[in-house]
Amino acid sequence: MEKLFAEELDGLRARSLDRHLRELSSAQGPEVEIGGRQLINFSSNDYLGLANDSRLRDAAIAAIAEFGVGAGASRLISGTQSSHLALERALAKWKRTEAALCFSSGYAAALGTIPALVTKKDVVLLDKLCHASLLDGAKLSGAVLRVFPHNHVAKLESHLRWARRQYPGKRILIVTESVFSMDGDRAPLRELVELKKSFGALLMLDEAHAIGVIGPNGRGLAAAENLNNDVDVQMGTLSKALGTSGGYICGSRTLIEWLINRARSFIYSTAPSPAVVAAALAAVGFLASSKGEERRLLLWEKIRWMRELLLSCASERFQDASRNSQLATLNSVSGSAIFPLIVGDEQAALNLASTLRDEGFLVPAIRYPTVGKGSARLRITVTAAHQEDQIRSLCEAIRK
Ligand SMILES: *Cc1c(COP(=O)(O)O)cnc(C)c1O
Repeated sequence: MEKLFAEELDGLRARSLDRHLRELSSAQGPEVEIGGRQLINFSSNDYLGLANDSRLRDAAIAAIAEFGVGAGASRLISGTQSSHLALERALAKWKRTEAALCFSSGYAAALGTIPALVTKKDVVLLDKLCHASLLDGAKLSGAVLRVFPHNHVAKLESHLRWARRQYPGKRILIVTESVFSMDGDRAPLRELVELKKSFGALLMLDEAHAIGVIGPNGRGLAAAENLNNDVDVQMGTLSKALGTSGGYICGSRTLIEWLINRARSFIYSTAPSPAVVAAALAAVGFLASSKGEERRLLLWEKIRWMRELLLSCASERFQDASRNSQLATLNSVSGSAIFPLIVGDEQAALNLASTLRDEGFLVPAIRYPTVGKGSARLRITVTAAHQEDQIRSLCEAIRK
């Protein structure tokens, strides 16, 4: 057995697809320490710079003083403490939905929710670039799964027609993301809502990279497009712009009651630690405040900076067809804090990331299976906490 895995690992290495952990000896932030070196960090999803914010830290410390560190049981046994309910009330109020439910991670939210919504003979229609947690949730549900090409509304429509014909009277669940995690582009939400209405389907939207970034007070894409009541299941995570950890589902009271009864990752898992929950509650409070809105607008300033500088260096750095597709990509992703520089070859992406690391920048190379084979990329993320000269120096390094 040892030998079997060793050979498989050799195979991964030969294809430049092996992965390794990197030790950070500092808190998350625009600068991190790795192996005794300070690196400027363009790899995190801490878009608002809250992961090490004093408001969140203080809230966590106060919660530890009052509630200790462990919740002690699952939510339905005796793990539901005041802070869990306070967080859920705050999430529902902020997202303007009837109710909300927290999970210990976004991954757990997807894995518990989709199988609670659909089962054998129901149909899940999933965007090709959806996050692994959504795909895994769909597979676990046992429903018939069809993947539609990325953001391809016409293909989705033909899948819907097929599903209605093939599985009459069954549930159809459309699953997509508001901002795609490795590409940074947005879903055509308005068109999706029209389709789901005309086919009587359910729509689940993963707002992981949109909350805190898009829409009034960072409420996400559904809120930004005024479609809050048309998205049946609003999923998100507390681990990105909100700087802590945990996942959530927002929606109708009936939906949340159903999930409390049926979502196995919620039922059979210990409640999140009160410290994390209190920090998340502080993060939601911050986002809903005018200071939070200021921070979000500051992030957008940094996004515009990054986009302009990357566009100007991409037009010098990349050649011909590659340059045009790179510019097209950068143009299409101006709606989020995620900037993919598509390299293609896996080893070439690793080499670029390593060169940038030598220059003092942490920028991850993203490879198969996180993205398609041969579409390896550098994934640059910008946060409100980055200084303009840090962004400028990254772009200078890429230009070189
Ligand atoms: C990160 C992410 C998740 C998982 O959330 P965690 O809280 O990190 O488990 C789910 N969906 C998308 C799109 C993500 O990017």
